[in-house]
Parts: sequence; structure tokens; C-alpha cells
Amino acid sequence: MGDPRSRLAEGNRKFVSKYDGVIQRHIAGQKPFAAILTCSDSRVPPELIFSSGIGEIFVVRDAGNIAMGASVIGSLEYAAEHLHVPLMVVMGHTCCGAMATAEQGPGDGTCAGEIINEIRVCFKEKDHLRANIRMQMAHLLEKSPIISDAVRSGKLSLIGAVYHLEDGSVEFL
Ligand SMILES: [Zn+2]
Repeated sequence: MGDPRSRLAEGNRKFVSKYDGVIQRHIAGQKPFAAILTCSDSRVPPELIFSSGIGEIFVVRDAGNIAMGASVIGSLEYAAEHLHVPLMVVMGHTCCGAMATAEQGPGDGTCAGEIINEIRVCFKEKDHLRANIRMQMAHLLEKSPIISDAVRSGKLSLIGAVYHLEDGSVEFL
């Protein structure tokens, strides 16, 4: 493997040859069975964790799996309203760098600092990891009538989960 760009290009060549045919079957549209909001951490790849393929999971990722801002919430609204996903998961993970940084103190004036301050809101509770997951689920319901209506009408289930980096298992809350 060479430089990072070459690694990407080579990886894509392998992908194209491995999934030739499968890729083309999904051109017409997508019908994912779940939407997942999880952390951007490179050790937390949802498709691999859930043994899923192309078109199966609608994924939104950011540091700390936080439901903050129109891009994150709006993307999940799209999954609920237009793709009709029956399941939405907010998945945090052990050994999360965003959580660890938040534990060290308040954020600065940067965009990253805003994420830290958002996570710190849940620090009133003892189990920061699970408290953050529950707080983000609550934010989705509070900030999005599309998501809360879908949950209320029974079209959508919203659940929390913890990915255990130590052994690869997912604990559903
Ligand atoms: Zn993380």
C-alpha cells in the first residue's frame, strides 16, 4: 500500500471488482431496514458491525454520535419520512475519544468545542456513555416532529445501542 490517495484508489478498485453486479442492482433506489446515528470513529464501521451490505443501513456519523444541527437531524428525517425505515438507532461506543475529551473539561470556541459542550450536558448522570445516547435520542424526538410523529404512530422504533470495542458486540439499550 502506498500513499493515502493510492490506498483509497486501490481499495475502490477491489470494491468495484468484488461487488460488480451487486452495485448495479441498487441503482434504482434504496430501501434500508435501519437508520443509524453513530460515532465517526474509524473503529466503529456500522456496515461491518452489523454484517450488512449495500442499501441495507442508512448511516449518519459524527464525533460523539450527537443529534445536533440540521445536517444530522435532517438526514435522519429523510430516512424516516422518505425511506420509511422501521428502525432508528443511536449507537455510542466504548473508548470514545469524544466522550473522553468531554470528560477533560469544557470545549473551546471551535466547532469541535461545541460537540464537547453538547456531550457534557449529560454529565449530570453517572454513566456518561449511556446518558449521552439517551440524551441524543431525546433530542431527535424534541427537535424533529417528523421523527417523533413516526415514533408516536408506531411506524418507527427509536432505540439506543452501545458498541463494545473490546469484543465487537452490540448491546441494545
Ligand atoms: Zn466515538
